[in-house]
Amino acid sequence: MKAAESFFIQTKMAKRDYYEVLGVAKTATPEEIKKAYRQLAIKYHPDKNPDNPAAEDKFKEAAEAYEVLSDADKRARYDRFGHQAEQMGGGGGGGFHDMNDIFSRFGDIFGGGFGGFEDGFGGGGRRGVRKGPNLRIKLKLNLQEIAGGVEKKVKVKRHVTCQSCGGNGSKNGTAVQNCGNCNGTGQVRRVVNTMLGQMVSSSPCPVCNGEGKTITTRCESCHGDGRTLTEEVISIPVPAGVGDGMQLSMAGKGNVPPRGGVAGDLLIVIEEAEDEVLKREGNNVIFELYINFADAALGTSVEVPTITGKARIKIDAGTQSGKILRLKGKGIKDVNGYETGDQLIHVNVWTPKQLNKEETAILEKLRTSENFTPNPNKNDKGFFDKMREFFH
Ligand SMILES: [Zn+2]
Ligand SMILES: [Zn+2]
Repeated sequence: MKAAESFFIQTKMAKRDYYEVLGVAKTATPEEIKKAYRQLAIKYHPDKNPDNPAAEDKFKEAAEAYEVLSDADKRARYDRFGHQAEQMGGGGGGGFHDMNDIFSRFGDIFGGGFGGFEDGFGGGGRRGVRKGPNLRIKLKLNLQEIAGGVEKKVKVKRHVTCQSCGGNGSKNGTAVQNCGNCNGTGQVRRVVNTMLGQMVSSSPCPVCNGEGKTITTRCESCHGDGRTLTEEVISIPVPAGVGDGMQLSMAGKGNVPPRGGVAGDLLIVIEEAEDEVLKREGNNVIFELYINFADAALGTSVEVPTITGKARIKIDAGTQSGKILRLKGKGIKDVNGYETGDQLIHVNVWTPKQLNKEETAILEKLRTSENFTPNPNKNDKGFFDKMREFFH
């Protein structure tokens, strides 16, 4: 049987500028464009605006704008030729004939708990393989795990394909037949009278939800849903050097859609636990070291904590408060793998807050001693000069 034809009646109207549609500047970055589109898509999403053709139009308009502006080539052509670019072949926007097109094209926008796909808009099931919703989890890591990278095992609840029916929701996976209402096409045709005469429009079959198949006996395990909820331990390889708010993704570890399809992705948002002693500054870590006045004047060696354990460092005689020492390569490996940061040790000379008689007597004697008179030279840089020197 010939596939149902679709005619869509459109009022000819001047198209709005794509940047205006998304509400972004002509200089907007791809990230800004994606963000703007995501906001509009959520606002005008058909699930949120049932039976609201105006919202549907906005939704389509935004999708069309996004399709062009999210593609570097199409965007460049549009910037040069405007909407005319679309008539020049090579295709610009305007390629969406129904909601399923939009959902299947920009699935990543609708994932992450919004469920746009899940029960989206009348069965995208007949259009290639459906992808299920993404699953988003948070993953808390400490500094050691971030610095060295880590393999984290996490328990995740996710929808997986039902084993009994293979995902189609029918008993043993075989109790299905072509839908009698649409003869298995998933679409129903309707004749509409318009000013221009009769036109045929097609819409998803309400009996089979556009899937073209109906279940004669439901699968007992999943009650026809085609999927089951399981708790799974997933091993997440976290590379070294990730930061707070960064997102990792694992393809195919999200949810499968109802009645067949592939799983969406597992999105992992990194949360960084603050370390009690080492402060992270980019790929460097900073340790605040306090030494007493005698050690600063006489010199000593002290143990300091590092990400990987303890390290012994030498304090030269005559060390000034504010000095920064560097342990090269003891910081965090860059997430792109190019270099490793350092540990910086910020030396603070501790001034006693109270003194006994004997201590007071000794210090009184030293008060006017010539070597105790401050005499900074240009090597004794101030704090900000030192920080600048170490960070650049
Ligand atoms: Zn089943
Ligand atoms: Zn049907």
